Amino acid sequence: MSPEKENLESKKFLGIHFRCCNVYVRIYKSKEGKSYRGQCPKCGKRVDVPIGEGGVSSRFFEAI
Ligand SMILES: [Zn+2]
Repeated sequence: MSPEKENLESKKFLGIHFRCCNVYVRIYKSKEGKSYRGQCPKCGKRVDVPIGEGGVSSRFFEAI
């Protein structure tokens, strides 16, 4: 991976708040780099946040 490319892809995780269990965790980019995937550490609820053309606009997400 070139330094330029690495710079563009510097956001490797996303902070997300799971309202179901009131916990805040980081979820990481999927292997394909098209979404952030993770799950609630308490109840196992899965989330998949798609990454748009210009990346995600917000660095903070909430899963209900
Ligand atoms: Zn939960």
